[in-house]
Amino acid sequence: MQAGPRSEVKTTCPYCGVGCGVLASVAPSGEVTVRGDADHPANFGKLCSKGSALGLTTGLEGRVLTPEMGGKPASWDAALDLVAERFSETIARHGPDSVAFYVSGQLLTEDYYVANKLMKGFIGSGNIDTNSRLCMASSVAGHRRAFGEDIVPGLYEDFEDADLVVLTGSNLAWCHPILYQRLLAAREKRGTKIVVIDPRRTATADECDLHLAIDPGMDVLLFNGLLAHLERAGIVDRSFVDASTTGFAEALAIASADGSSIADVAQRCGLAEADVRLFYELFAATDHTVTVYSQGVNQSAHGTDKVNAIINCHLATGRIGRPGMGPFSVTGQPNAMGGREVGGLANQLAAHMGFENPVEIDRVARFWNAPDIARKPGLKAVDMFRAVGEGRIKALWIMGTNPAVSMPDARRVRAALEACDFVAVSDVTRNDTTRYADVFLPAATWGEKSGTVTNSERRMSRQRSFLPLPGEARPDWRIICDVARRMGFDAAFDFEGPAAIFREHAALSAYENHGERLFDIGALEAISDADYETFAPRLWPQPRAGEPSRRLLGSRFPTQDGRARFVPVRQEGVALNVDASRPIALNTGRLRDQWHTMTRTGRVPRLMSNAPEPALEIAPEDARSLGLKDGDLARVSSQYGFARARVSVSEAQKPGNAFLPMHWNGQFSANGGVGPLATPITDPFSGQPELKHVPVEISRE
Ligand code: SF4
Repeated sequence: MQAGPRSEVKTTCPYCGVGCGVLASVAPSGEVTVRGDADHPANFGKLCSKGSALGLTTGLEGRVLTPEMGGKPASWDAALDLVAERFSETIARHGPDSVAFYVSGQLLTEDYYVANKLMKGFIGSGNIDTNSRLCMASSVAGHRRAFGEDIVPGLYEDFEDADLVVLTGSNLAWCHPILYQRLLAAREKRGTKIVVIDPRRTATADECDLHLAIDPGMDVLLFNGLLAHLERAGIVDRSFVDASTTGFAEALAIASADGSSIADVAQRCGLAEADVRLFYELFAATDHTVTVYSQGVNQSAHGTDKVNAIINCHLATGRIGRPGMGPFSVTGQPNAMGGREVGGLANQLAAHMGFENPVEIDRVARFWNAPDIARKPGLKAVDMFRAVGEGRIKALWIMGTNPAVSMPDARRVRAALEACDFVAVSDVTRNDTTRYADVFLPAATWGEKSGTVTNSERRMSRQRSFLPLPGEARPDWRIICDVARRMGFDAAFDFEGPAAIFREHAALSAYENHGERLFDIGALEAISDADYETFAPRLWPQPRAGEPSRRLLGSRFPTQDGRARFVPVRQEGVALNVDASRPIALNTGRLRDQWHTMTRTGRVPRLMSNAPEPALEIAPEDARSLGLKDGDLARVSSQYGFARARVSVSEAQKPGNAFLPMHWNGQFSANGGVGPLATPITDPFSGQPELKHVPVEISRE
């Protein structure tokens, strides 16, 4: 839908998983202005610093608006022909697992749907993974272990109905600012207690009632200790545990052995015993408790166990799926959740069906009429780039993401891209990754493309175009379908537009779904183009007729027996320990005003002004012993690579810990970002790498 001059178009912010509604308008001069959409149930009219600057990011500076082959302008036909030809040839010669797609939580659900359908359904390989693997894959794995499916057990309203909100591994104030503002507003009214569990004293920790500056990697022990405490305190909800769960005794036995006393837990976590006791007592005494977790939990070599340690405590108290209660994962990207719905992860098939169940594979194969469908999971992100480097993957298509900067052990990723036989990149501007592209496919971006996104509470909203497609740019869904047709899969990719793709996605979700997946979700398979255009934000899947919301999840879960599962988890620690040669634990994360590798926010002077260059935060004690002071240039070296950054001496850091923002890339800094420093060691269940911890040596540059 194109906007007329000065008309406002309802769309959705393309940054974080809060998924705020935006009203965008275009002046006759072409100037774009935005304001928050007061009708959107995520933000009720508010926008954060990044969202409110969106109008400043829609210019065409730096855009690449024609296809390129070998760095030279080319026609769309030639570029698409080459991509289809090289993929087809590679598959014919080396089999379907010799090719891969690496996609992005920036894609719209319809883009994701056709990319997944092409790779898993028609190429016949599971090798499509998304940069959401780096963001929330551990939450997905934890949800599947506990609930049988990647369901979201809470709503944003729960933040406002809670008396205690525990934020663990989440700097909500900076990373999900509007949700944080909703929490603070609720606290004004009801006196909500806020506990923050984070090695750093973040902006979120500054405002909390209790900050537990836990040592890196100790979260399982802290929550195992909590589970043991809840049992000792007689807070376990026996009727809920008996009727709606399995595995409590086993989980409790391990938790009790792990966290045998508060004193022991506190000492091993690097915390004061009184603080841990206060946290446990608050949790035990507060029925309306929400535990929010984010990348600090997920980006870990044991992230899935951490997620389940948290969920175990909510299952033990029956505090799940009811107002103001539950574990809640906040996703990093605007459409990480939409990707999860349609199989954007290599280990999922589509519509939350998986490779573990032959019935589900057969169902998707019949629905798509795709007899050559993949029958096993593909390679997850880190393994995918390893396979590229080893020559097992010979043709790679990267869409809307910048792995040359954002992947751990990024130097190796860059070497892999350099050596890969064929790399296609769909993107908007040049970045560190596009320099490896044999074919560049100019994609449409926010404001130019249309489709749906799904936020952290699993609410679908529309992104709508309000700007014309510039130059020769095309939406991702169309580029993917054009390649699929050239590969000979015409009938399956004959979509007229995103509405038609959405209808098929809804139809697949409903196909042979006789209630075992809980929801009546078939209604949208017949949505008209007109209704898709005016589609208002709504929860997905939709509740059954007569059921007010998803809160039913509190007593029935999509496991075979309808019960949630306690998962026994043990404290394991970090993947790599600090030692004499690399004595500092480096943590990474976001800044308030930046997004990902800054390809959009880095162009807005007002967003750059607070932190024009990456600052390495270190504790005063460490600065003294290293002979460093504020403003010095430091060299940070891990076993994988190095970076340079200005020192910022900060009381927010625990001695022995340091923090470096994740955003800077080759366009904005010569240091190449944190990717080259980070470890590619991953969680065994989720495949998510431990981006939050790597031992480093710090010295004066
Ligand atoms: Fe955008 Fe997130 Fe800010 Fe909302 S909170 S305006 S979704 S960046």
